[in-house]
Amino acid sequence: MKAVQRTGPLSLLYAFMDATRGRASVNGEIPRRERPIGLYILETGGCEGCFMEVESLNGSAFALEQAGFVCVSDPADADWLLLTGAVTRVCAEMLDRVWRAMPPGRSLIAVGACAVDGGPFPAGYATLGGLQALTPVRRAIPGCPPAPQEILHALEELARV
Ligand code: SF4
Repeated sequence: MKAVQRTGPLSLLYAFMDATRGRASVNGEIPRRERPIGLYILETGGCEGCFMEVESLNGSAFALEQAGFVCVSDPADADWLLLTGAVTRVCAEMLDRVWRAMPPGRSLIAVGACAVDGGPFPAGYATLGGLQALTPVRRAIPGCPPAPQEILHALEELARV
């Protein structure tokens, strides 16, 4: 096989690609699936703390893709919906739309206390509370907010089930 030239203007890019390939996963394990699990992240009305922690998994500090996940920008490409924040009345319709746009086999995961039961944002004139008020919550990642490492670890655990 012909050796790839790793010098010149693209050397920095090659170095980055090598570093990405060589980055250890969180628990040192090899990804389990052929295809990564698509994650669609939706914030429906909290303080956005959980949303920022989930979003930070996209950064280079975390081996999200090596752990077998990829964030997607279209619900039609998503396997799992990660919901952060309480379900505000103005976002309830959007939540329904996103959920319906996801393909069969989809899963809903509540990230943080607000997403589960509303946390400090109980049901009222502006919010319906958490997902618990709307549907049985089978998959949840507790915390206020959970740290990115905890979220990633929980996602890996859920992927094993
Ligand atoms: S659970 Fe806590 S950190 Fe997360 S959105 Fe609610 S108040 Fe903010």
